[in-house]
Amino acid sequence: MSKHILITGGAGFVGSHLADELLAKGYQVRVLDNLTPQVHGPDARRPDYLDPEIELIIGDVRDPDILRQALKGIDAVYHLAANVGVGQSMYEIAQYTSVNNMGTAVLLEALVEQPVERLIVASSMSLYGEGLYLTPDGDQTVVDQRSLYQLKTRDWEIHNAAGEVLTPIPTPESKTPALPSIYALSKFDQEQMCLTIGRAYGIRTVALRFFNIFGTRQALSNPYTGVLAIFASRLLNNQPPLINEDGYQQRDFVSVYDVAQACRLALEVPEAAGHVFNVGSGRHYTIREIAERMAQVLGKEWIQPEITAKYRMGDIRHCFADITQARQVLGYEPQVTLSEGLIELAAWLEGQVSLDRVAEARSELATRGLTV
Ligand code: NAD
Repeated sequence: MSKHILITGGAGFVGSHLADELLAKGYQVRVLDNLTPQVHGPDARRPDYLDPEIELIIGDVRDPDILRQALKGIDAVYHLAANVGVGQSMYEIAQYTSVNNMGTAVLLEALVEQPVERLIVASSMSLYGEGLYLTPDGDQTVVDQRSLYQLKTRDWEIHNAAGEVLTPIPTPESKTPALPSIYALSKFDQEQMCLTIGRAYGIRTVALRFFNIFGTRQALSNPYTGVLAIFASRLLNNQPPLINEDGYQQRDFVSVYDVAQACRLALEVPEAAGHVFNVGSGRHYTIREIAERMAQVLGKEWIQPEITAKYRMGDIRHCFADITQARQVLGYEPQVTLSEGLIELAAWLEGQVSLDRVAEARSELATRGLTV
């Protein structure tokens, strides 16, 4: 008998790819999603990309009655439903706390009543704040957020007390979270709530800290999501990508197919239970390079990114994944290179109508004093 899996937020970008991965491996998939307008548009229709074999329950993860119905006959749950904008979380504080923290609380109460074999929760690299660094002497060090004074002088890199620039290195799960935004705080809460309740009630639980995910189906008209989708949406409207700071900040971009693979392994590998794993590509790129490569792939090399020298409150300088744990315990191995991923993304983008709401989103942050 094939296992029945529930994915909360499964109509979204990551959840729908995960659903495809699970269907391909013979699982039965049910999705609970409220089709949030910021992601799915005002009509809240079932997305065309959602496989017809997926059972979709349209409802809110904070509704205990809907959850009771959604959990009937389910063997394992992926909890992906969340509001996902770092910048937006800094002013829609009640909304983010309600959906992310309270949503998880309501789900966990439902799981106490109707337990499952396994719970996998989507967490985020954003909880680390700054990644790990090396001092000039070669010692690992955890650094503070850059001060407002430093940022106002447009001095972007991380220094030690002697003014020497520190070198970023891959960040392992053991790095102490710095929680620089309401979103980061909510993701940390989500993973720790799930692990705590999982341990207490014998629900084998795994938390996956996703790095910057890219791929098809990412909501392009949602200005609060991934940087690649935002750049693509600007370029498609013949506008330059807008880059904060100087563009030399580094991130780990991981294909959504690799994330789906990691999610499936977290369900299938017995030793994963009770642990937290970074899910990244294990490679890192500057934001400038990402903008340039996206322009090339879309055939818009003539559009140079615009370096704004602005700072967005809550942003960090460098963070990229150490994926040793996921490799060793889950047997996870990233398969998709950035070039392959961007080519597929470009082909998908050809068919997309994207509304460029980036300027609007930036001014919402600026009017609240959340950029300097
Ligand atoms: P997404 O916005 O595409 O998907 C989230 C889905 O959750 C949407 O379909 C939305 O309608 C649904 N949703 C929102 N509020 C809900 C509610 N109250 N009840 C039911 N459904 C609700 O985002 P995504 O990029 O697919 O992210 C999936 C998960 O991965 C999230 O938990 C996010 O925090 C995490 N994550 C994503 C990234 C990334 O780069 N995309 C990185 C780190 C972590």
